[in-house]
Amino acid sequence: KKELERKILDDLQLEVDHFDGAGAEEFSDLPLSKQTLAGLKSAYYTRMTDIQQRALPLALKGKDVLGAARTGSGKTLAFLIPVLEVLLRKRWGPQDGLGALVISPTRELAVQIFEVLRKIGGHHQFSAGLVIGGKNLKDEQDRLSRMNILVATPGRLLQHMDQTLGFECDNLQLLILDEADRILDMGFSSSLNAIIGHLPRSRQTLLFSATQTKSVKDLARLSLKEPEYVAVRENN
Ligand code: ADP
Ligand code: MG
Repeated sequence: KKELERKILDDLQLEVDHFDGAGAEEFSDLPLSKQTLAGLKSAYYTRMTDIQQRALPLALKGKDVLGAARTGSGKTLAFLIPVLEVLLRKRWGPQDGLGALVISPTRELAVQIFEVLRKIGGHHQFSAGLVIGGKNLKDEQDRLSRMNILVATPGRLLQHMDQTLGFECDNLQLLILDEADRILDMGFSSSLNAIIGHLPRSRQTLLFSATQTKSVKDLARLSLKEPEYVAVRENN
């Protein structure tokens, strides 16, 4: 069984390596695991939105992406699908610790992202948690060290990075900055810089933003490596 699983993931990796993204319109046109495809299907997602069509082929290949698209354009799946797929192909397991970190400006948005993750990630084995404050710090602390995927707000995350023993980010593979413009507008710029300073340099970073302000570009320069720019116009 182990042998078969290894073969399936090796084949999937080959498919991804040879995939150029051209003409992919539905999720089933992408080189995705059967777990993710089943999750998407159970949530009735079939056709990709524009930002998903443009960003997913790049992000699935492990590239850094700077994505700009208005609210409601489907950015959440554009980063959650790569989180699941990249960790799966890396054979991420319980003993590997934190593999992906999603940073969101507000608790409400973090909760929404977490709900989408639960909806489409239900056929995967990863552990996932929310770090959004407003609850007992100790409860959060106890669970943190066991999580593979975290959805967090900047302030609370930094608090754990500074105070929670056993919270390690040394293995992190993916950093997602969602609604980067709003994170910066809310005054989290220095928190974000401190968080990024705690993370390993060799990682994949996906940065999504509704607008392309100077401060977003500065953040992109600081956090992304040779990013691919993906912008979807307003009238799409
Ligand atoms: P954004 O983060 O860009 O504001 P969301 O990811 O929150 O957008 O998605 C907006 C809405 O569109 C959500 O209700 C989501 O379920 C829906 N949605 C996203 N992608 C698709 C898709 N491929 N097909 C159908 N609905 C989608
Ligand atoms: Mg969003």
